[in-house]
Amino acid sequence: MNKVIIIGCGGVGTVCAHKCAQYPEVFNEIVIASRTKSKCDAVAKAIGKPNVTTDQVDADSVDELVALFNRHHPNLVINLALPYQDLTIMEACLQCGVNYLDTANYEPRDEAHFEYSWQWAYRERFEKAGLTAILGCGFDPGVSGIYTAYAAKHHFKEMHYLDIVDCNAGNHGKAFATNFNPEINIREITQKGRYYQDGKWIETGALEIHQPLTYPEIGPRESYLMYHEELESLVINFPTIKRARFWMTFGQEYLTHLRVIQDIGMARIDPIIYNGMEIVPLQFLKAVLPNPQDLGENYTGQTSIGCRISGIDKQGNPLTYYIYNNCDHHKAYEETGMQAVSYTTGVPAMTGAMMFLKGLWVKPGVHNVEEFDPDPFLDQVAEAGLPWHEIFNEDLEL
Ligand code: NDP
Repeated sequence: MNKVIIIGCGGVGTVCAHKCAQYPEVFNEIVIASRTKSKCDAVAKAIGKPNVTTDQVDADSVDELVALFNRHHPNLVINLALPYQDLTIMEACLQCGVNYLDTANYEPRDEAHFEYSWQWAYRERFEKAGLTAILGCGFDPGVSGIYTAYAAKHHFKEMHYLDIVDCNAGNHGKAFATNFNPEINIREITQKGRYYQDGKWIETGALEIHQPLTYPEIGPRESYLMYHEELESLVINFPTIKRARFWMTFGQEYLTHLRVIQDIGMARIDPIIYNGMEIVPLQFLKAVLPNPQDLGENYTGQTSIGCRISGIDKQGNPLTYYIYNNCDHHKAYEETGMQAVSYTTGVPAMTGAMMFLKGLWVKPGVHNVEEFDPDPFLDQVAEAGLPWHEIFNEDLEL
């Protein structure tokens, strides 16, 4: 009997719950638990299956998590709350003997800084407990690492240059909105850029380096170099990589709004006193911005995310390779009620959980997704709604 608890019922949690419920032979029982139970109840009602139930938890509290796990005895927790909760959930998993999967690495609340060291520090404890923790199983991080592992397994003797390219060519009709949690999103985009070259990390100004890149079925879009967490593990797991970068597209309107938000202090994450009350400006901004979960209905266009890799193929010849998925916002909305950014994260989370439950991705310890066999994952993720395509020996533009 397989039982999973999905923690967090935002855009990504909603998609993941819908997708898990489509495979009752693997996900025999599904509990959706979050801070606001009414949101979980609404999703369970929309799914309308007796094996989907709900509960309430404050995932900042290890004690509450332990009580939740003791009530339900899940095999696996799918953590789709915010990055702030990663460590408390991992701690509770160790106390209760539960396996773990997430889509974003830990971030302290008071510092916009993400790296895997905090979660990698749990390696030995998970290993000793015989528990598997799968880190970063969304799209990026997630499928981006699995595409890279697939390229290494099937096509390259040596990968030299890796560029992860993430384009959202969708239009939601709002002047400014973020596609996932605004607090997490704005913290990520406003930080300094960073990329890996010849064994060193090179820092850049925020969104300082940019160039147009051409995306399949979309065309050219201005793409900005950013730091992204999967680069940290990929350059360790694939040591032939000489340079690894991450690019994301932004429209001019979006960037102008972002600049104003920063200039007027609304992106600050330190608390200020307002009318005798302590508030964090970025958290206040989140409260007035459109809710990313409500963008889906009028969202048109596609996302396109992939890896552009060059190096030496298995026969020793130069090879350029592009593997990608395009996802349509409106189709994602019709299926799950959420736009493509939540869809492209929730579907891989379900797929990774399925790999674990089927025994294909069981490895005690704490692991990034590229450490597992990419083949069964990529077969399943395509079947579940995110087909992928490969282009060989064309100009990568990078
Ligand atoms: P949302 O803000 O839409 O949802 C977050 C959910 O977590 C909400 O249901 C929220 O509850 C719940 N939550 C927050 N704090 C707690 C807490 N202390 N205890 C219990 N529940 C809590 O975010 P998204 O769905 O957009 O994103 C979810 C995760 O996915 C994030 O970590 C994000 O970084 C990650 N992500 C990863 C991507 C990838 O490709 N790897 C891409 C996009 C997102 P409430 O409703 O009460 O606020």
